[in-house]
Amino acid sequence: MIGTVPIDMSRPAWDDDSAVSGWRGLPTLDGDCAADVCVVGLGGSGLAAVADLLGRGLDVVGIDAGRVAAGAAGRNGGFLLGGPATFLHIALSMWGPCAVDLYRATLAEIDSLEALLGSSVVRRTGSIRLAGIPDTQADPADVRDCADLTKCLRENNIAVEEYSGELGHGIFLPDDAVMNPARRAVGMAAALAGRARLHEYTPAVGIEPGAVTTPTGVIRCDLILVAVDGRLECVLPQLDGRVRTARLQMLATDPVAPGRLPCPVYGRWGYDYAQQDASGRMYVGGGRDLFAEEEWTFSGEPTARVQNYLGSLAELFAGEPVSVNARWAASVGFTADGRPLCCYVDDGVIAFGGYNGTGNLVGPVAARAAVALGLDAIEVPKYLSS
Ligand SMILES: Cc1cc2nc3c(=O)[nH]c(=O)nc-3n(C[C@H](O)[C@H](O)[C@H](O)COP(=O)(O)OP(=O)(O)OC[C@H]3O[C@@H](n4cnc5c(N)ncnc54)[C@H](O)[C@@H]3O)c2cc1C
Repeated sequence: MIGTVPIDMSRPAWDDDSAVSGWRGLPTLDGDCAADVCVVGLGGSGLAAVADLLGRGLDVVGIDAGRVAAGAAGRNGGFLLGGPATFLHIALSMWGPCAVDLYRATLAEIDSLEALLGSSVVRRTGSIRLAGIPDTQADPADVRDCADLTKCLRENNIAVEEYSGELGHGIFLPDDAVMNPARRAVGMAAALAGRARLHEYTPAVGIEPGAVTTPTGVIRCDLILVAVDGRLECVLPQLDGRVRTARLQMLATDPVAPGRLPCPVYGRWGYDYAQQDASGRMYVGGGRDLFAEEEWTFSGEPTARVQNYLGSLAELFAGEPVSVNARWAASVGFTADGRPLCCYVDDGVIAFGGYNGTGNLVGPVAARAAVALGLDAIEVPKYLSS
């Protein structure tokens, strides 16, 4: 038991998908090798880097400490939302016009993902941001913030509509999409594995210019890209102080009335979120802000306090009692000003991560910037912290 969380429930429900449970896996590295580029971390961001590098005709080795998308990339809410974690009007005021560039880049990533994986994996549903959460009085400041965001999106010609329905009030963003994140990752890995040498259960235990050391061999290469979001400061201690790891938690339920959530829905400033699949099953996360101090941790285990909150939240999103059948957590990286990190940490070693809880699209955007930085010496866009 973890508090009151039965240990046999501690697994990501996304893995129940047959495409994920049937994943045949990738070989571990067996001996020393050489490549043009080594990508460390095969989540959504690392796999995007591998794809970009292959598109340039390079010889690529990619390694992951566990299964593909063993971290947050395979354990998240599956929301594909335009923009960074910081709402656009706030990001604009903090970072300037580059925030809109990032918003557009993430929307383009949805198109790329859909082209690669198809519309059965990337579902173009749009998303709803609620002021508050269902059946709960919204904070008036959250209501005002939805209005401010709407105004900002319209001024920048980004589609947005008002939402008013059984879930409450807020805004509908028609360009957004949703997915099973683990299915996205294994789908990408399957598409790339024939062209890049990808290895699971092969942790990098040493990273230095020109060499990545693993327990089963050394990879020699000209460029190393470290694509790790949560726990990045453990892999690269020189980034301690620039990124900080937090835990985010989720649960899944048995099916409830299908169609209750027409698309992914997030509320209460985006802290709480849920999506529902065609069977009626709910995938619910959030509450980190309510337990902030204990969630600044490197642990990836679910806890009773957050899970109890998520159980109540699931009933609000479902509009009926729910039965929980899976609980999980994972680590993500936060940065001080909300801009993700993409920078050299050593000669020929570039790290990217720190997506502040919203990295499904921003991660691949950062991956492309890292490739352009490493191969073409193109300065990273201002929406990334270098
Ligand atoms: C509960 C939860 C809900 C979330 N919901 C959303 C959402 O709905 N939408 C959204 O956009 N974002 C969401 N996020 C954030 C998002 O999941 C992450 O920002 C994103 O997945 C990061 O992907 P990544 O590939 O950059 O990094 P990671 O997922 O951190 O992947 C890094 C990979 O590197 C591997 N690795 C680590 N150390 C080593 C090493 N030493 N050697 C080799 N490999 C190593 C890990 O095993 C892992 O597979 C959520 C996160 C969580 C935890």
